[in-house]
Amino acid sequence: MKFIETRGNDGTSPASVTFSEAILSPMSSFGGIYSPESLPDLGEYFLKCHVDQDYKTLASNILTAFNIDIEDSVIAEALSLYDHFDDATNPAPLVKVKDDLYVSELYHGPTRAFKDMALQPFGKVLSSLAQARNEEYLIMAATSGDTGPAALETFKDRENVRVVCLYPDGGTSDVQRLQMVTEDADNLKVIGIHGDFDDAQSALKLLLQSDTFNAKLKEKNISLSAANSVNFGRIIFQLMYHIHSYLELVRQDAIKLGDKVYLDVPSGNFGNALGGYYAMKMGLPVEKILIASNENNVLTSLINNGLYDISDSSVIATTSPAMDILKSSNVERILFDMFGSERTKELMQQLDTDKRYQLTDSEIAEMQKVFVADYCSDAEGSQYIKDAFADGYLMDPHTATCFKTYDTCRDDKSLKTIVYSTAEWTKFSPTIAEALTGQAGSSDIDALKAIASEAGISIPDSINDLFSKEITQSVVIDKQDIEKEILAFLS
Ligand SMILES: *Cc1c(COP(=O)(O)O)cnc(C)c1O
Repeated sequence: MKFIETRGNDGTSPASVTFSEAILSPMSSFGGIYSPESLPDLGEYFLKCHVDQDYKTLASNILTAFNIDIEDSVIAEALSLYDHFDDATNPAPLVKVKDDLYVSELYHGPTRAFKDMALQPFGKVLSSLAQARNEEYLIMAATSGDTGPAALETFKDRENVRVVCLYPDGGTSDVQRLQMVTEDADNLKVIGIHGDFDDAQSALKLLLQSDTFNAKLKEKNISLSAANSVNFGRIIFQLMYHIHSYLELVRQDAIKLGDKVYLDVPSGNFGNALGGYYAMKMGLPVEKILIASNENNVLTSLINNGLYDISDSSVIATTSPAMDILKSSNVERILFDMFGSERTKELMQQLDTDKRYQLTDSEIAEMQKVFVADYCSDAEGSQYIKDAFADGYLMDPHTATCFKTYDTCRDDKSLKTIVYSTAEWTKFSPTIAEALTGQAGSSDIDALKAIASEAGISIPDSINDLFSKEITQSVVIDKQDIEKEILAFLS
């Protein structure tokens, strides 16, 4: 399987690349990204053959269908990382919450958020490729929460890859910060920045464009890669759980093989939703994909009226911060798949220059064949958390946004809905504690205790232990000192 560029080819770089090239150097001509040239057609027979198979077998056979240039032994090792999830046989359990609403829990990995589903195997694959080529890679990430801990965790002590993670000091939850600053490995560097997430992200952008910085990396024979969700190496591991959740519904006798379902996805950078879209194109019986957003509702507008407009908006801080995003990177792969590279390049250029683009009526119709969208305010989300808890289900504020789309976006009420839960309650505890008890402003540890007592459960050890672990990454600096700090770490 080859990968091609969403904005077409500029004539100087190769017109198509292998999977390993696409994941080692994910940026392509004109600022585009790599997408699969075609998708394997799995069909109903494939689904039927996997009803009685476990997650790893399913994942492995999907990768085989993609025919990627990764050795079987590396794939096997990468997938064996799912053995460390809560249930070694089922990393993503499906839980019934209402007669027609099932929650696919994607947060049972080491950092308690769904980023582990893809980053765990991805880290192993990337490091093995770097090792086989005898090349050194640097991955830099600016994080406001979940990507940082998951990226650090997957690359910890891995060969030939170093990770630098920038976070806004005071701009993450206590649990997220502690997950990063207690990471102890020679190949990891965590840097707190005085400022907010935008400051951290713009500092990273400047550095990536800096000639002196790039020259220094070259001198040291270090190449840059990326672990964000524009990297197809992450997306490929996000197809599987959509197919797995569907098969779980069959196993639980909730549907018959071939019945259609709704997929209901809390969306930010659109990696999760893109995985669902590819699964649908590969033959998974999906009626529609429901796109849930918070008040940063660019995706709702895009799908409902074809307008992507960030010209006079700034990011709103919500209680579902992993979805506080205006430029949703993976939408580009949908545009490319539906409308081709020429149109995608045009639209993305408009977004760069005018901060907006408008789809035509026929393009909107095409979009709406697959997607339906709505957004959920913080107050609505809080009510959904409270109501679900009263029904016996504890969920986080990102997952809660899907309960709004479940209420407002389904035409066929006879079909089952799979809601994707992207974080454990432990990661966003102050918001959940407030929804359940009415008490605002608790610290993470007090909120964790309040929820545990309210729900009659205990705080998981992996979270509780963070509060007494040694802080090994204590650097907090001004933006202008980042380059120096990173270069010192690399020598
Ligand atoms: C990353 C993240 C999301 C958004 O997922 P995308 O694939 O970027 O759309 C939603 N919820 C949580 C908790 C996340 O960490």
